[in-house]
Amino acid sequence: MQKQKGHIGVTTENIFPIIKKYLYSDHEIFLRELISNAVDATQKLKTFGSVGEFKGELGELTIQVRFDEKKKTITIVDRGVGMTAEEIDKYINQVAFSGANEFLEKYKKDANAIIGHFGLGFYSSFMVAEKVEIITKSFREGAQAVKWTSNGDTEYTIEEAKKDDRGTEIILHIDDENKQFVDKNEINRLLKKYCRFLPVPIALGKKTEWADGKEKETGEDNVINETNPLWTRKPADMSDEDYATFYRDLYPMSDEPLFHIHLNVDYPFNLTGILYFPKIKRNVEVQKNKIQLYSNQVYVTDSVEGIVPEFLTLLHGVIDSPDIPLNVSRSYLQSDGNVKKISNYITKKVADRLEEIFKNDRKTFEEKWDDLKLFIEYGILTEEKFAERAMKFSLVKNCDGKYFTFDEYRDLIKTNQTDKDGNLIYLYSTDKEAQFSFIEAASNKGYDVLMMDGYFDTHFVNHLEQKLEKSRFVRVDSDIPEKLIAKEEQNELKLTADQRDELTTVFQSQRPEMSKAHFIVTFEALSENDSPVMITQQEFMRRMKEMSAMGGGMSFYGELPDSYNLVLNGNHPLIARITERVETSVGEKLTGIRSRITSLEGRRGELETSHKKMKDEEVPQAEKEELSDINKKIDEQKSKKSTLLKEFAANEKLVSQLIDLALLSNNMLKGEALSKFVKRSIELI
Ligand code: ADP
Ligand code: MG
Repeated sequence: MQKQKGHIGVTTENIFPIIKKYLYSDHEIFLRELISNAVDATQKLKTFGSVGEFKGELGELTIQVRFDEKKKTITIVDRGVGMTAEEIDKYINQVAFSGANEFLEKYKKDANAIIGHFGLGFYSSFMVAEKVEIITKSFREGAQAVKWTSNGDTEYTIEEAKKDDRGTEIILHIDDENKQFVDKNEINRLLKKYCRFLPVPIALGKKTEWADGKEKETGEDNVINETNPLWTRKPADMSDEDYATFYRDLYPMSDEPLFHIHLNVDYPFNLTGILYFPKIKRNVEVQKNKIQLYSNQVYVTDSVEGIVPEFLTLLHGVIDSPDIPLNVSRSYLQSDGNVKKISNYITKKVADRLEEIFKNDRKTFEEKWDDLKLFIEYGILTEEKFAERAMKFSLVKNCDGKYFTFDEYRDLIKTNQTDKDGNLIYLYSTDKEAQFSFIEAASNKGYDVLMMDGYFDTHFVNHLEQKLEKSRFVRVDSDIPEKLIAKEEQNELKLTADQRDELTTVFQSQRPEMSKAHFIVTFEALSENDSPVMITQQEFMRRMKEMSAMGGGMSFYGELPDSYNLVLNGNHPLIARITERVETSVGEKLTGIRSRITSLEGRRGELETSHKKMKDEEVPQAEKEELSDINKKIDEQKSKKSTLLKEFAANEKLVSQLIDLALLSNNMLKGEALSKFVKRSIELI
């Protein structure tokens, strides 16, 4: 054969400068592309061997990767099927595509999409090389070895070559911009990243050993890959330890996983893989380890968004499928029918596995629940199909550390925690320490309290209220124990309106000084055994603020101060004692003021009733003046009264003491206020 020249069959003027220009970010994938071609060629040869089309010896099949720092070359050598001149022409020269420029413009950021679209795997070598040589000899009997050379424009030459061995040798002359790739560590890194689990051995030079203080090459190939990774083997042949070891190989820095699932389907699509449930740290954002996606054991990516539902991206492990269109853009992936099926399949398998463990080994399931919870709640919140399944095995934990399914829990609280309107009230705590006294008070009433202190629990509580019929979730400190679950019978309040009014002033004047907090005095008729003063926070407002803090779009609520109720137990002896003290210390002066106010209000009432019957202009001027005078006097008296009561409150240690005790049981007494409290307590003793 004569040396020939020709044009590579592309319809656009010059594809290579375009490839170079647009594929700047993913240059390193050239090695993956060339090695997977070498693997394909080797596998093809094995297939030909097994069907009798190839009758020779397979022999050594290891793919060799070599480099020469001086010549700036990287060479990939395989002993696969090789190519004839005709095959080179067909598979390498005739790059068929159309509308190239338009497509490149659209996907310029996505090298995978471009390479996949045009079948440009081989040509990705021009991202890093100024010249590429292929020296190849077909496995077919009597084949002539050929050498193909191109400088990365549309010109190539093809000529006869001398090559004893069947197979293909690709020599890349790396250009200056990419010379960092001609480096042992760099090549090793790329091989480890993309080729770690390829099915044919790949060797980077020879193994070395230390002898006489020097590193010397041995005769043995330095094979960098595991040709038979765990997910390609039969689950029956593997032990738990095998799965654990494989996990450590993949994620050396991680804690032991909780469970694994071995995926294996061949119809209607092809998919194998192993997924692990990791111990997820509270902060989901810092999730670094990811599921790795492979196509026939070639690493493709670890961003699986769009292929598996979002909550499954929290899992670790590998998925291998030649049926996922790997070389296309993300937006395409999301609408791909195959991808949808695969995603549904994985979701189903994950639910199957969890249900299986739940059914067969409830004890283990409960032991690992705290670590699994985040994952399962995330799934329930975001994936309808998973939620349907998971509600059967999802657990809740109460403050005593016992676990229940939703059905079991409903049965537990049904009798005691149904309110007068027939709603089932789920009490929960978000902080066992801070809400201790409320939890205790609730248990004293025979109520059960759930622990809801997880990352997603604020959202999860809202979600459950919508899912579970006639059910409400109430945080245990959102009201006094008597009112957490509204029942028919109510105690009667023993205080008069005047007494309530005066106590409000007394307590309001001693309320704690806190920025962004706001206290309202209210009264409840509780029993003598309940606390005299309590602090509660409204459920609705608190949840809105929490959602806003998590970025739930309620920023308006986030700006508002925390609003607390300072609840006085009107039937408690200590509250009665304060009313008595008011009487003994300022009662005399108050009586005068009270009767003056009563008579002024009486006269005002008279005037107002008579004025109601008249038109404005008919009201005598004298009476108008009298009315405004009365209002002024009432205000004066009230302000006198208020001053008296505030003076009283400031000197009455019992008032501050009761407020502080309430703050203390909510874990809200801090700093200076706390040390004042301690001093005062000692004085009182
Ligand atoms: P793809 O691998 O998707 O077919 P490539 O551009 O990577 O696209 O390769 C084009 C074709 O060139 C391959 O299908 C194969 O026929 C041929 N080829 C590439 N590399 C080799 C090789 N090392 N041995 C034999 N044939 C090869
Ligand atoms: Mg290829």
